[in-house]
Amino acid sequence: MCGIVGYTGPQQAAPVLLEGLKKLEYRGYDSAGVAVNERGGIHMVKSAGMIRNLCEKTHDGSVFSGTSGIGHTRWATHGAPTDENAHPHVSNDGRFAVIHNGIIENYLALREELSGKGFTFKSETDTEVIVNLLELYYEGDFKQAMLKTIARLEGSYAIGAVCADRPGEVFAARQFSPLILGLGVGENFLASDVTALVAYTKNVIYLDDGELAELSPAGVTVYDCTGRPIDKPVSRVTWDVEAAAKGGFEHFMLKEIIEQPRALKATIDPRIKDGRVVLDDFRLSDEELKNLHKIYITACGSAYYAGQAGKYVIEALARVPVETDIASELRYRDPIIDEHTLMIVISQSGETADTIAALREAKARGAKTLAICNVVGSTIARLADTVIYTWAGPEIAVATTKGYTTQVAVLNLLAVYLARRLGRIDDDEERRLVGELNKLPQQMQRAIDLNPGLEDIANSYFQNREMFFIGRNLDYAVCLESSLKLKEISYIHSDAFAAGELKHGPIALIEPGRLVVAVACHERLFDKTMSNIKEVKARGAEVLGVAMEGNSRILVEADKAIYVPRCEPLFTAVPAIVPMQLFAYYVAKANGCDIDKPKNLAKSVTVE
Ligand code: GLU
Repeated sequence: MCGIVGYTGPQQAAPVLLEGLKKLEYRGYDSAGVAVNERGGIHMVKSAGMIRNLCEKTHDGSVFSGTSGIGHTRWATHGAPTDENAHPHVSNDGRFAVIHNGIIENYLALREELSGKGFTFKSETDTEVIVNLLELYYEGDFKQAMLKTIARLEGSYAIGAVCADRPGEVFAARQFSPLILGLGVGENFLASDVTALVAYTKNVIYLDDGELAELSPAGVTVYDCTGRPIDKPVSRVTWDVEAAAKGGFEHFMLKEIIEQPRALKATIDPRIKDGRVVLDDFRLSDEELKNLHKIYITACGSAYYAGQAGKYVIEALARVPVETDIASELRYRDPIIDEHTLMIVISQSGETADTIAALREAKARGAKTLAICNVVGSTIARLADTVIYTWAGPEIAVATTKGYTTQVAVLNLLAVYLARRLGRIDDDEERRLVGELNKLPQQMQRAIDLNPGLEDIANSYFQNREMFFIGRNLDYAVCLESSLKLKEISYIHSDAFAAGELKHGPIALIEPGRLVVAVACHERLFDKTMSNIKEVKARGAEVLGVAMEGNSRILVEADKAIYVPRCEPLFTAVPAIVPMQLFAYYVAKANGCDIDKPKNLAKSVTVE
């Protein structure tokens, strides 16, 4: 959710912290702040709004001379995005400053307890109890105060803390929220995401739940929750600075849309050997596979819609029933999951709180678990029995594009793989499907190039305050994601309907001039969708049709058309979403929206 950074070393800390925060701004951006340890005290500046406000207030950090500190960009959960509620928060005695990502579930009880002891609170946040607990437990030993404090916290947290008495020291702790330590030479870093670190170091330690870390310029020590030092492996980040930069594009989102052919190649190529899909990490034995009764796919947001597309493909090829469920729903019902279930969880960041909870629930019920995620070493990747990385590279725009398409590509690979291992397809069919998977990156390029008039089309519709998407089968899955994309970045109300459902209610919403985007790429169902287009046209709707390249029959009913390159019908969700992403992008641009950082959203939703 929010972004956390910490620094200790020989450099002026605040400019390093601000640079890191800028990289993390996509994680949360309603307010920001930095606190630096200097001249025997904690010096702090906070500001509501974007990080540039904070940069202005601090002259890009140059007003601070201290060489250790912490910084935060907030995505408010408790209290409005104001200067007061922005992090860091400082203890009553001014000795400690804390930044926090997550939610302290028992904060009300703690606040009451601390108030009873005479502590006062300046903010509405749950975070402020943490910093005052530090003051309460401090007897001259920063580490002991940290251990005692985190022992009192319930809920989720990634914490960074500094103490005025200990210049050069930064403490960090994690429970259910991501936190990474960056190891430099004579300097060390803390961040909630590697994108903030890659400019400085590629050597990182992924902190695990319940762990505490002590950073100084000389080194990093990680402790368990009892304070015993533990050995942690150092991992190497493969992303470079350039991969996380805008590279001349107006927005990260456009860059990431255009990057999709390359991203898909990185997803698909390593999994294909000698005409077969090879998933080296897939650990289910033939016996376990044969005994599989059901596959669950659970995720949130776009990842959930990727799962919807995956359901059609896996059921069609592997002939195993697939149930999709939203993670926040699944975790609170009593799902029928047992050792005969394969639970697939999908999350770009691998840190989505509800998806992590659903994964834990599935594991507790004995399911085999498989994670599809992008961020290496993330919580979900480490929890699941098997992980298939999407290898999409860093995705910075809040609204996912290459994250989504690479997830669908993995589900397509998985469908072919399962179909072969379960004996549902023969060698020839596998080779044919693999050939089709291999073509997807090229088809993505064609999907980008095929509709040069898309911006004009978007410009002719951008003033509509409501739009609907209709489609059947995989086209319906594409509609769900298209509609979400549009609302996320343009704030236009939109909804997606299974085209066959129209007359069971939604058609009541159609009135003259209402824009309906009809996705009709599924050629077997083309005539059915055309009938639905006729129905909305008869009620005065304006229709933008989406059809396979060369299928100009769409224009018999639709007012305008967008085309999708021809591909294996089962894999259409991958190229078909591309013009829809571009459509949403251009509509948002015409509306003057902040495309990479849409209001109220955050990239990696690490709170429930
Ligand atoms: N719960 C804290 C707050 O509302 C932290 C939110 C965040 O993760 O940014 O301030």
